[in-house]
Amino acid sequence: MADPMGGHRTEDPSPQPPHCKAGSATSRASQKTMIELLSGEAKDDLLDRGFSRRQLGRIAAVFSVGAAAASLGRPAWASGGIPDPAPSAKVRIGANECWTGPLAPGVAAAMAIIPSGNRYEPKDQRGDFIKAVMQVEGAPYDHVAPWPGSSDPLSRAVVTFCSPNRGLVTADPTFELAGRTAEWLGAPVKRVPLKADYTHDVKAMLAADPNAGLFYVCTPNNPTGTVTPLADIEWLVANKPAGSIVLIDEAYTHFAGVPTASYMVTAGKDVIVMRTFSKIFGMAGMRMGYVMTRPDIIAKMMRYDGGMQSGALPLPSLACATASLTAADLIVARRKEMQEARGMTLEHLKKRGLTVIPTNANMFMIDWKTVPAGKMQAAFRTQSVEIGRSWPIWPTVSRVTVGSMDEMKAFCAGLDKVWT
Ligand code: PLP
Repeated sequence: MADPMGGHRTEDPSPQPPHCKAGSATSRASQKTMIELLSGEAKDDLLDRGFSRRQLGRIAAVFSVGAAAASLGRPAWASGGIPDPAPSAKVRIGANECWTGPLAPGVAAAMAIIPSGNRYEPKDQRGDFIKAVMQVEGAPYDHVAPWPGSSDPLSRAVVTFCSPNRGLVTADPTFELAGRTAEWLGAPVKRVPLKADYTHDVKAMLAADPNAGLFYVCTPNNPTGTVTPLADIEWLVANKPAGSIVLIDEAYTHFAGVPTASYMVTAGKDVIVMRTFSKIFGMAGMRMGYVMTRPDIIAKMMRYDGGMQSGALPLPSLACATASLTAADLIVARRKEMQEARGMTLEHLKKRGLTVIPTNANMFMIDWKTVPAGKMQAAFRTQSVEIGRSWPIWPTVSRVTVGSMDEMKAFCAGLDKVWT
């Protein structure tokens, strides 16, 4: 198998199908071996749900050998058709990363654990992490499952609840990983445009596929930064078909500082609430995330994990995440820092007469109206500023991540040079 993590990464999921090209004798032989790696329970479940043996091979290729689910071959996170961000760009505000590293207590905890790294588990670091989640979110111990980042459980949720018979419904535009995983597996995908206020149109999402296996709600949404009201999500949960799941991806929730959906987990609803440490916690390269959901849902998702991903987390990442999660004051301070940099930038854009979608997260979208977003991205590169990409539904709209105040000043200066 090709190195799925080759090259540097951005947050974007691959638009490409994964590495195992179907058809060749070698790929058929390796698929057979892969299928053997799936547990009997997983095989039965997949065949019952309408997957063919060939699709089983694909699922096994992604999950059974311990490869990260999101790493669907190289380029796993590369932007479609656009070169990866130049690592040499002075200002990197294209990939929705944090402008700075982990919170100080997280750094200290990660460093402190390194000398004990000879042990698989010097103490119960995984348990300590789950207890921190319980403390902050109120979810019971057996409702929390840590994972290395949230891309992996996001793809696993698609495999667990979607099939050729039960599709996926997502918004448009939104984070594409769920949609691409479902398409690659052969599950039907419906993409439903956001409402005029850029929140998820939950009624249209249900109408798009009343028998869907999974409804993906990203709030705040990537790329718009808009928060979908919890009342709308509650409506979807109450009205969705039996046996389906509403996946609420709260990757950016700390940047918004709004109430979260975790109470629906505690209430035992058919939801998965998903978090990552790649955003406000500044840990994208350290790979930590978790899901909160009912134990029976965790057990189903684990069929395609075998403990390889969720059970063997790097100690420094676990320790860093545990110490960061409870640092409430520092989280608020970081959010405030982002809001100040964002406020300054939006003010500048307003003065320049540019249209920006209202946002409640560390990203905003600029509509260049007459100029393709790819062209603007290339123009900013000449200023050593790496902005984000666009989504096919809005080809003249670029996503820009909010960096530090200095980075955003450099962005504004670059804008004044390229947008005259
Ligand atoms: N969910 C959303 C909405 C994202 O934007 C991202 C990354 O950008 C992820 C999930 C995955 O993040 P990670 O795998 O780093 O946890």
